Amino acid sequence: MDFWWSKLQREILQTDLYTRSGTAVGLSDGILTLAEKDGDYFPLKVKDGDIPKEAFTCSPDRYNNMPALNRLTFGKLPSNWLFGEVKKYYLGYAKDPAIRRLGSSGGVLTAVLLYLWEHQLIDGAVAVRMRSDKPYLGESFIATSREQIIAAAQSKYSIVPVNQILSELPGPYRSLAYVGLPDQVMAIRKLQQIAHAKVSRINYVLGPFCGLVLHFSAIVSFLRSHGVRDLALVKSLEYRAGEWPGYLRITLTDGRIIQARKFHANYLIPFHLTRYSLYQVDQTNELTDISVGDAWAPSYEQRGQGWSLVLARSVKGRELLHTMIDQGYLNLREISFNEALAMQSHGIDFKKRGAFIRIAKLKRQGKPYPDYGYEPTNIPAGRLRFEAVLGVLFRLCGLKIFLAVVEKLPVRLSGGLFVVARNFWRRRTKKIKRGGLTDLKFRLTGK
Ligand SMILES: Cc1cc2nc3c(=O)[nH]c(=O)nc-3n(C[C@H](O)[C@H](O)[C@H](O)COP(=O)(O)OP(=O)(O)OC[C@H]3O[C@@H](n4cnc5c(N)ncnc54)[C@H](O)[C@@H]3O)c2cc1C
Repeated sequence: MDFWWSKLQREILQTDLYTRSGTAVGLSDGILTLAEKDGDYFPLKVKDGDIPKEAFTCSPDRYNNMPALNRLTFGKLPSNWLFGEVKKYYLGYAKDPAIRRLGSSGGVLTAVLLYLWEHQLIDGAVAVRMRSDKPYLGESFIATSREQIIAAAQSKYSIVPVNQILSELPGPYRSLAYVGLPDQVMAIRKLQQIAHAKVSRINYVLGPFCGLVLHFSAIVSFLRSHGVRDLALVKSLEYRAGEWPGYLRITLTDGRIIQARKFHANYLIPFHLTRYSLYQVDQTNELTDISVGDAWAPSYEQRGQGWSLVLARSVKGRELLHTMIDQGYLNLREISFNEALAMQSHGIDFKKRGAFIRIAKLKRQGKPYPDYGYEPTNIPAGRLRFEAVLGVLFRLCGLKIFLAVVEKLPVRLSGGLFVVARNFWRRRTKKIKRGGLTDLKFRLTGK
């Protein structure tokens, strides 16, 4: 009787592919609610009756035909499969120094939302803020003022089921902007594909790049390393505080501040990354109108201040960016595909080769796997070997004993060791990881 609910549980919720996007709950007409436990989220059935079909079919966890969604969004297949469809690659930042400083990288996403709001192109923006009752967890909401858009700036690297907000849509809004991670954006495009009323007012789709999402256990572990075991002591949590690249900073109610530089805090990644992140193939938010990431390049990292890599994907996105540059809201310089790739090759490799290798392994093992409607055809043997080593490392980091030891070390030491090991690893593997990335060929697999 509960056909779609059973299917959702069996094919998505009970697998490693469940992305916590919030889509099923947001579309469930109140039949599902999202239960939160220790910063993780699972749908619970709270009313009789089956969930709507779309709560399953538009969930982005498993079945995403990217070629079809590209045709829907851009009217064509992407110009390349590494970044997806891109009309222009830019490097730059928000002209307003306060917004630039506040943002995760160059404050571009916040500047775009503010521009849309102030020019009455939208009357609301789906964004993510920290909760008032649990200031260490993020939540999606609809920002309807300049102050709220600004308060939503900054990346939240732990799980936020953004699409839970669909339960409040279309609401009284005339025109909305939407900011979401790549899988969450896929769900929005799937809903647009069937002209679903919930997304009928979403006119601008924006999003950050996304390499990985962490379990909230990362924050718990970081606090434990500093002798803090009570979450009630957390007054605020910022993942990218201060000058770019910024700090993971936790302010406690007694005034103490616990923080680590962004690159040091990365030591948490192998211990706390969500499994579903390993099987997601979209690093740069390919179905947005505009997507934004960090301009990772030593020359810019040394300069600080805040630098974004900005991708204009749709005609609408490109025109909006042009207007904002012309009117002095953004300082953006057009760069080449190769310059952009050099900044993101690590992450793109992790997705466009790594994730597809991991998906192929799931297939071989007869486990549930995500289908994106395309796949690479010529991953070099060296990259396959590299993946095997990476897999062993991730498994080691999954051992509780290993984490317990790392938690006992001063964060400056584990963070510093991680930076050294990562740089060494990157230098040693540069050839394998970067070599041939631009030669990677893809084929469509869907109907
Ligand atoms: C989980 C995650 C992983 C990321 N991984 C990478 C990466 O591997 N490489 C890379 O270059 N960049 C990555 N980014 C993007 C990067 O951190 C910045 O968000 C991006 O450079 C935009 O910077 P900005 O200053 O323009 O954004 P801001 O002006 O700070 O605006 C950020 C916007 O994103 C929204 N937002 C924040 N967190 C979330 C979330 N969890 N879900 C949905 N919306 C959110 C905010 O509400 C805000 O509107 C990641 C971001 C996130 C949230």
